[in-house]
Amino acid sequence: MNSPKPPANASLNSLDDLIAAGLVAPSQAGDLARVEKSFRIRITPEMAGAHSPAVAAQFVPDARELVIRAEELTDPIGDTAHSPTYGLTHRYPDRVILAATHACEVYCRFCFRREVVGASAALPDDDLTAALDYIAATPAIWEVILTGGDPMSLSPRRIAAIMERLSAIAHVQIVRLHTRVPVVAPHRIDDAMLAALRARPTVYIGVHTNHTDELTQAARAALTRIADAGIPMVSQTVLLRRVNDDAATLEALFRALLTLRVQPYYLHHCDLAQGTSHFRTTIAAGQAIMTQLRGRMSGMGVPTYVLDIPGGFGKVPIGPEYLAAGLEGYTVTDWQGAKHIYCDPD
Ligand SMILES: *Cc1c(COP(=O)(O)O)cnc(C)c1O
Repeated sequence: MNSPKPPANASLNSLDDLIAAGLVAPSQAGDLARVEKSFRIRITPEMAGAHSPAVAAQFVPDARELVIRAEELTDPIGDTAHSPTYGLTHRYPDRVILAATHACEVYCRFCFRREVVGASAALPDDDLTAALDYIAATPAIWEVILTGGDPMSLSPRRIAAIMERLSAIAHVQIVRLHTRVPVVAPHRIDDAMLAALRARPTVYIGVHTNHTDELTQAARAALTRIADAGIPMVSQTVLLRRVNDDAATLEALFRALLTLRVQPYYLHHCDLAQGTSHFRTTIAAGQAIMTQLRGRMSGMGVPTYVLDIPGGFGKVPIGPEYLAAGLEGYTVTDWQGAKHIYCDPD
């Protein structure tokens, strides 16, 4: 297998870089300098080169990020509410998330961890060791989810080292990596990266992608290399206003993912991170889109629409509801909206 070549240009890491690249008008520099002070900027050459408004809206800062609403939180999903060691969150009995790094290849303007990403790079060794010791000492932990930041922004060597240490813990059966790297920095999916992932516990990759315009030829090739390496993939998508908040856009994305051997897993309602209200739809709008997708496309391609309950209470499916309990039994709504009665056995 040949390793892909990285693109010639470097990532855009500042407002000045964006202005030089023509992605931001110089007249906006004043407001956006204030945004840059609060929330880091980074766009990979692949995403800058996609030349798509739906892609640019996710990564190019916007003055509306200065609007902080009362309901918005610095830790919207409560990562720190259940943190036994620094970098580790243990909210559900059988699985933990480990923030292996705070860095990402791109900084999404709607990020639910925007207050912490980019602050420093890899989790310090002492903290990593403390996290791994906790996992080793907690037999209920069956799955370790590497997150961040973006765990695949780490070097293959560091990923391999973490994998090796996790393989030594007998009760850890699954390691899942949630990442944008295969899509936004596809050249990183090289032979060394694939070798690092070929560890003993079963490895899954959760690919974060929100629009087909992100699925460039290089991204599709990277996803194909991962699937060919025998690593199963699921996807997660954030529902974003004016980016992907209609059934046709999401249907195209989920069909593309299925053909690339990535199973759509979660459609996330946009979390209450600070300065992100311009991205947020209503839950009713999300439910209406889900209703349209059901029946309209392969059930394999329809993810679960979830809300991460603010404060650290976990993710729950938020509909739409097809079943209503009543005295006469259940009323079930089919995909075209017609109602039917279903009764349990006595
Ligand atoms: C999202 C999340 C998980 C994983 O949840 P799944 O429903 O298994 O995908 C695990 N722990 C924490 C703290 C999370 O935020």
